[in-house]
Amino acid sequence: SQRHPDQQEYLQATREIAGDIIDVYNANEEYQQFDVLRRLTVPERIIHFSVCWLNDAGKVEFNQGWRVQHSGLIGPYKGGLRFHPTVNESILKFLAFEQSFKNALTGLPMGGAKGGSDFNPKGRSQHEIMRFCQTFMTELQHHIGPNTDVPAGDINVGAREIGYMYGQYRNIHNRFSGTLTGKGLSFGGSHVRTEATGFGLIYMLQAVLEHHQQAIEGLRIGISGAGNVALHAALRAAQLGATVVSLSNSRGCIVNNNGFSEADIQWAIAHKANEDNILTALQEHAGGDWHDGKTPWDAPMDIALPCATQNELDEDAAQTLVHNDVAFILEGANMPCTDAARKVFEQHHIPFVPGKAANAGGVAISGMEMAQNASFQRDSYSQIDKTLQQIMRDIHQKMVEEGTHNGRTNYAKGANIAGFKRLADAMVAQGI
Ligand code: NDP
Repeated sequence: SQRHPDQQEYLQATREIAGDIIDVYNANEEYQQFDVLRRLTVPERIIHFSVCWLNDAGKVEFNQGWRVQHSGLIGPYKGGLRFHPTVNESILKFLAFEQSFKNALTGLPMGGAKGGSDFNPKGRSQHEIMRFCQTFMTELQHHIGPNTDVPAGDINVGAREIGYMYGQYRNIHNRFSGTLTGKGLSFGGSHVRTEATGFGLIYMLQAVLEHHQQAIEGLRIGISGAGNVALHAALRAAQLGATVVSLSNSRGCIVNNNGFSEADIQWAIAHKANEDNILTALQEHAGGDWHDGKTPWDAPMDIALPCATQNELDEDAAQTLVHNDVAFILEGANMPCTDAARKVFEQHHIPFVPGKAANAGGVAISGMEMAQNASFQRDSYSQIDKTLQQIMRDIHQKMVEEGTHNGRTNYAKGANIAGFKRLADAMVAQGI
């Protein structure tokens, strides 16, 4: 923390994992001999570059781009690209660090990375977004490849942006290879990849509920965010009979105590790209109350699924949720709960599943996309959906095995220990 006093998100993520695994580390001589804890907190490589591109008015614009390759111990670097004005090195280092643990938890051969730019695509024309993506990829392509580093989408990087970046990569290399995941279905994409993070979150919720002898039907689920993860989690939850009571974005939240129907959510997914604010449009379409500038956490709910961004759910929100008898928290976004919020849940013994486990479905299906590209094969929608359910159940089981003491499961600790052991064992086996 003395070397990086300004990298708060990165310090928050490393402190959190170190606190959970320190006993495992101290009990293992080889881990200490190979200095695995310190080595695992430092990224293997950080690539920082400039992105100069022309806007529609013919003026030069300038952005910064990064790729943080955190750990290649167990497979090619793998993790999303985020385009957002808040992107900086601290955020990408925290995301890459978390990604290494998440990818380890999936059981698949994938290392951890994250990248992106401080470019804000909001209000930009399609041509501007295409030119930005092409210029970004002109530099990034030097550092990635199907066996080296395989980026995917994240905030503001969806199928359209992946398509433009993939096109540029292919133009430069003149070869089809699975260098990016989240591609369109017609050019190497996988079934279920778009839905995977949100659906996987609900499959994890089902595993947690089953472990607590409960079922999802009729439960009130509060969701924040209105992007890829939030809307697909909402869709699967509604399809399984839950009542989805909220969604949100950076401008406010919508609460509907009667619940959004499956058809309403399908409508939001279909119209999201064409609406300035999909949630006010949804309100007109399906009803509910819009709360300007508010988060959804004071609505009564049994389950909270924060699916927007890091540190969006703070201590006050956690206290409100506890006061309203929330029973389970699962993170759909990466680190959406602040340290203080997590402590509140812990004090009240409310099961809390961290993002590195609960949102691992997306990267797991990205791993399947890589395997399909490498073998020039395509698995069916139902095959992949079944695999996703199994992977989420397996991650749940690992957390239970590593995190249960005196009959109570600490999911966060279980996830951190299981991910750490896989990475640390690989580090020891590979020497220095
Ligand atoms: P999207 O860009 O599709 O959606 C992001 C949503 O979050 C939007 O509704 C956005 O609102 C909202 N949001 C962003 N910043 C804020 C903020 N500061 N306050 C309130 N709302 C905000 O992103 P995704 O759904 O893909 O990603 C969401 C989270 O899930 C991220 O943490 C991401 O890292 C994580 N994740 C995503 C995966 C994926 O497969 N996509 C995989 C694993 C994790 P607005 O449009 O108004 O900005």
